[in-house]
Amino acid sequence: QWIFLGGEFVKKENAVISVYDHGFLYGDGVFEGIRVYSGNVFKLNEHLQRLYESAQSIMLNIPYDKEELTRIIVDTIRKNKLDTAYIRVVVSRGPGNLGLDPTFCSNPQVIVIAEALALFPKELYQKGLRVGSVASRRNRPDVLSPQVKSLNYLNNILVKLEANQAGVDEALMLNDQGYVTEGSADNIFIVKNNVIYTPPVYLGALEGITRNAIMDLAYKHGYDMKEAPFTRHDVYVADEVFLTGTAVEVIAVVEVDGRQIHDGKPGKITTHLLNEFRKVVRTDGVA
Ligand code: PLP
Repeated sequence: QWIFLGGEFVKKENAVISVYDHGFLYGDGVFEGIRVYSGNVFKLNEHLQRLYESAQSIMLNIPYDKEELTRIIVDTIRKNKLDTAYIRVVVSRGPGNLGLDPTFCSNPQVIVIAEALALFPKELYQKGLRVGSVASRRNRPDVLSPQVKSLNYLNNILVKLEANQAGVDEALMLNDQGYVTEGSADNIFIVKNNVIYTPPVYLGALEGITRNAIMDLAYKHGYDMKEAPFTRHDVYVADEVFLTGTAVEVIAVVEVDGRQIHDGKPGKITTHLLNEFRKVVRTDGVA
C-alpha cells in the first residue's frame, strides 16, 4: 500500500511523521474522508471545497491548489490499484517546536491514504442501530465552527466513548440548548407523518456531504423535506430515524435512549432513500 506523504509516494510501513508535527501534538490540522465508487470519486469537489474552507478558517495554508490535490488523490487511487475505496486526506500544520504557536510551523504536511473499503456489517443495515444521547456537547459555533473538519476530534471521541459505555452503536450529540445536532461522525434525519426533518446546520452540525445528497434525493423523489430544529422527544416519537455520512452512507436507527422507534424496524422512507442513494453511487456490495 502506497501513501502520499511529503510530496511523494511512500510505502505504508515508511509513512511516518515527525513527533513535532502540530497535527500530532495539538490536533492542529484538517481532514476529509471521501469514497470512491467503481473508480469515481464521490462528490470530490464538495469535499475539496470543505477541506480548503476548513483550512482557511484556521489559517492553514494547503501547499497545493485544488487541481494539484485532485491529481494527487487520483494518483493515490491508481498507485494502489483501487476501484472502490475510502480516502483520507489530512493536512497538518506540520513540524514546529513544543509551543502552541503555529507561526513556527513552516511546512504543512499533506497526507493522502487510500484503502480498500471496510464495509459495515450487512446486519447493521438490515436491523438498524441502537443509539443513545450523551452528555458531551457539540462545540459552540462561535468558538470553533462545527463546519471546520479539524484534526481535533476529541469531542466526537468522547461521544463515541459514552456510546461504548452505554452499550449502544452510536450516540447523538446535542447543542448547548439541548437541540439534537448530529451523531459522532454522521448527520441525523427523522421522519414524522411523511415529512423528513434534519437539523439546520446553524444549530451545530457539520454540513455533511451525504446529508446534502440525501436532501437532494428526497426533493427529487417528491418528499416533503424540511430543515428544522428538533429535540430528543421528537426523535423518540418519530416514525423513522436515520443517520447519514461518508462512512455509513444511510443507516436506520431503531432505538434511541431505550425507546423503540415505531415498530423497531428500518422505515419505508429510510429504506427507499438508502436504495436510491446506492443507485446514485452505483454500488451493489454494501448490503
Ligand atoms: N458530522 C461529523 C462530525 C462528521 O465528522 C461527519 C463525517 O464527515 C459527518 C457529520 C458526515 O459528513 P459527510 O456526509 O460529509 O461525511
